Amino acid sequence: MGDEHVWRNWGRTQRCGPAALESPRSDLEVVEAIGRARAARQRVKVVGGGHSFTDIACTDGRMLSLDLLDRVVGVDEAAATVTVEAGMTIHRLDQELAARDLALPNLGDIDRQSIAGAIATATHGTGATFGGLATFVRALELVTADGEVLRCSATEDPEIFHAARVGLGALGVVTKVTLACVPAFNLHHVERRHRLDEVLDDLDSFVDANEHFEFYWLPHTDYCATIANNRTDHSAHQKSAYKRWRAEVFYPNYFFGAVVGLGRAAPAMVPRLNALVAGGVGTTELVDRSDRILVSTRLVRFAEMEYAIPRERARDAVRGVRDVIDAAGLRVSFPIEVRFTAPDDIPLSTAYGRDTCYVAVHMARGVAYEEYFRGVEALMNTLDGRPHWGKLHFQNAATLAPRYPEWDRFQTIRGKLDPEGRFSNAYLDRVLGPA
Ligand SMILES: Cc1cc2nc3c(=O)[nH]c(=O)nc-3n(C[C@H](O)[C@H](O)[C@H](O)COP(=O)(O)OP(=O)(O)OC[C@H]3O[C@@H](n4cnc5c(N)ncnc54)[C@H](O)[C@@H]3O)c2cc1C
Repeated sequence: MGDEHVWRNWGRTQRCGPAALESPRSDLEVVEAIGRARAARQRVKVVGGGHSFTDIACTDGRMLSLDLLDRVVGVDEAAATVTVEAGMTIHRLDQELAARDLALPNLGDIDRQSIAGAIATATHGTGATFGGLATFVRALELVTADGEVLRCSATEDPEIFHAARVGLGALGVVTKVTLACVPAFNLHHVERRHRLDEVLDDLDSFVDANEHFEFYWLPHTDYCATIANNRTDHSAHQKSAYKRWRAEVFYPNYFFGAVVGLGRAAPAMVPRLNALVAGGVGTTELVDRSDRILVSTRLVRFAEMEYAIPRERARDAVRGVRDVIDAAGLRVSFPIEVRFTAPDDIPLSTAYGRDTCYVAVHMARGVAYEEYFRGVEALMNTLDGRPHWGKLHFQNAATLAPRYPEWDRFQTIRGKLDPEGRFSNAYLDRVLGPA
């Protein structure tokens, strides 16, 4: 690994030594950077916010950060779309939209990713009638391996657009993204403690009765926290800044971080600590702007794996994870997060073609995760699971191809746009095969 530049991801699960780091300020500078890589026979990788847990953003070639490409290009009010440069963070995008009384229809848990990085891995939130972020994309501009600037949408190069919405960074450097947006809206947020079996036994009612439903089950306990977010015309109830910090930053981060630290030092205490955390889940109600409700602050670092499974297998999956933990005698401090999305038609989207349930497992930073994650992955293999491209997993092209009906369609586009594998890296060689 080169000593000059050492790059690490957010979760500290990956590090790499790129041969060069560049931060282009314009499309032309992206084209020039790719030209330099071609001349030096180097591979190129764009890094977004570094929030993937896999080595999807790692390279020993040229690493490009688009942090300086973060402007709003334009808003089309008639079409209800916004076009932004690809390095913009979701956080900035939310602020820019709110200033124009607009919002994205749905969001994931955090907003620290770049917009291009988030869509590249099929990042999603929860809501059985909402697709992931890539389903909001209406057009993309990308610089291809031969330096061409290509614009694609449903009407311009539609075959490329079809694949490039979830491109894993394998098709080119995305420089601009056009996204569908909606008028700004408030959400009514209700968080409650429930018995896990009560939720699992009546899961469809919970999921279908709410626009955005998810739950967190605390291992070693019979309890989960359910979160239901629904649109409301009521105006925001602002808590005091202190109360808000206590509820949204202190408890889920500093308090939870201390509990996780204790569990790491004394694993035998984890079941009792989890019971303490579960006991502390009360009922919380709040109304606020959609992005403020949907997005959380995450200060405690962890490792994560997440699988997309057909929605009807959700119960088997959660009960199966409980069996994996019990059978191996594992001690797991972090909750299991369960979310739901609508099907989509994007070849490499984890929600392709089916109503989807996402089950995510986490381990505290510094705690061995492999036995747990491999056990959960073996279970997910039996449930037709597809791993999140940005979260840890042990699959490869041979095991993944049969899970994606339009796998070959994606590979044809990849072969056309990047025949020499300029945008590949060790991760893409593993999960997609060599270009
Ligand atoms: C705390 C935390 C919470 C998370 N919450 C969620 C969640 O709620 N839902 C969910 O689905 N995921 C979630 N994730 C995963 C995360 O959304 C994805 O891993 C996402 O891809 C990270 O975006 P990034 O900008 O950090 O991209 P990176 O990790 O930096 O890169 C990801 C991929 O995108 C490519 N890429 C980035 N920019 C470009 C570009 N301009 N052109 C072409 N390719 C590009 C990279 O080359 C790489 O292949 C979470 C991760 C963390 C750490």
